[in-house]
Amino acid sequence: MPDKSFDIVVIGGGIVGLSVALHVSRAFPELSLLLLEKETAVGRHQTGHNSGVIHSGIYYKPGSLKARLCLEGAAAMCAFCGEHGIPYEVCGKLIVATNQDEIPRLHALLQRGQANGIPGLKLIERAQAREIEPHCGGVAWLLVPSTGITDYGKVCEKYAELVVGQGQRVNTSTEVMNIVERTGETVIESNRGSFATRHVINCAGLHSDRVSRMAGVAPDVRIVPFRGEYYDLAPQRRNLVRNLIYPVPDVRFPFLGVHFTRRITGDVDAGPNAVLAFKREGYRKTDFDLRDTSETFTYPGFWKMAAKFWREGAMEFYRSVRKSVFVRALQKLVPEIASSDLVADGSGVRAQALRPDGSLVDDFQFVCTGSMLHIWNVPSPAATASLAIGREITELARQGFGLGHGIAPSGVGR
Ligand SMILES: Cc1cc2nc3c(=O)[nH]c(=O)nc-3n(C[C@H](O)[C@H](O)[C@H](O)COP(=O)(O)OP(=O)(O)OC[C@H]3O[C@@H](n4cnc5c(N)ncnc54)[C@H](O)[C@@H]3O)c2cc1C
Repeated sequence: MPDKSFDIVVIGGGIVGLSVALHVSRAFPELSLLLLEKETAVGRHQTGHNSGVIHSGIYYKPGSLKARLCLEGAAAMCAFCGEHGIPYEVCGKLIVATNQDEIPRLHALLQRGQANGIPGLKLIERAQAREIEPHCGGVAWLLVPSTGITDYGKVCEKYAELVVGQGQRVNTSTEVMNIVERTGETVIESNRGSFATRHVINCAGLHSDRVSRMAGVAPDVRIVPFRGEYYDLAPQRRNLVRNLIYPVPDVRFPFLGVHFTRRITGDVDAGPNAVLAFKREGYRKTDFDLRDTSETFTYPGFWKMAAKFWREGAMEFYRSVRKSVFVRALQKLVPEIASSDLVADGSGVRAQALRPDGSLVDDFQFVCTGSMLHIWNVPSPAATASLAIGREITELARQGFGLGHGIAPSGVGR
């Protein structure tokens, strides 16, 4: 017998799950909601290991969910941080073409950004670029004034506090182990007892495909983990970077390309790269998990991707093991950077959804199956876009679950 019953259970206490919980509980205050998080605190995985950038939305295909939700989410994130006293700064970013070949791509990026409605984009001359970032190199520069920085760990904690303030529950240290569908209800089995619910929203990040499979839903994608490693600029060299300096991205892999990011704390990060990880939540180079690795290597889509992009993958590995190669990539942006200026810092692991044909799922992917909503692909800029994603998922839940259309609240379990 389940220990308690709820109208809605959200699985995963990252920034996406918490925003979803906040929006659903505000939109339907009469319903009871429980959020389950396996770690001892919220925001311990992708959310707690990211770069802290409030992205402008310049990179994403016009008309995509990413473009729309990033733009809406960035404005909402700044307003949220302002309202709740969370430090943030709209400091702007410089995108740097490091050779003549990259200039057409920089111009294409400007057009994409304009199509997405990003305000204030401007190609600038060397002198102006040097006024903004006195140590940057390059041959052409695009200024993105609306990019910002914040601390998504703090944002996540605030979301959790507000969910609890709505009278709902956030249970940490509770790992979902199995999901059983019964007539009229779903039972979530965890290491801390079982919970009956009418609806489930799966926001399990690096484990979102597994959580779907627990419920007997076979996703058409597999999550493949990519670790991103950072260096920190030594304190006495932080003057080399004022704000954010990025390379021109390869639109096929917007997450590739090491860059400089000033943190809201004042630290300056260099990185991250993107190497295949052998553990979904493995933050060290040596971390290995047999189940995670065999799930990657037995997935046909992985081998198709590897066959297409082995050069890029090998380069990322090489950059990961040879600091000098990492430094050379950074020197294209800031020529004065030396290896001795960089101190190894932490890392983060990205959940990237991969299709059986080997293509990366580029856009956000949300799928509703009966009484369950699955959030299968929410890579960057999902932290920026989290408030907009929460609003969007609430609308999907309204339609998919028929919420607000005469559903009787269970009224128990609060
Ligand atoms: C290196 C890196 C840099 C990034 N930089 C940026 C950036 O600058 N700006 C930006 O906007 N985005 C950035 N992103 C992307 C952003 O951080 C993620 O898109 C976002 O955090 C995803 O949030 P999430 O809630 O889906 O996942 P997560 O934060 O990973 O949360 C998922 C949660 O589900 C829990 N969970 C999993 N399985 C279970 C289970 N069985 N039972 C209970 N709980 C479970 C996990 O413990 C975890 O807490 C970056 C990501 C990485 C990795």
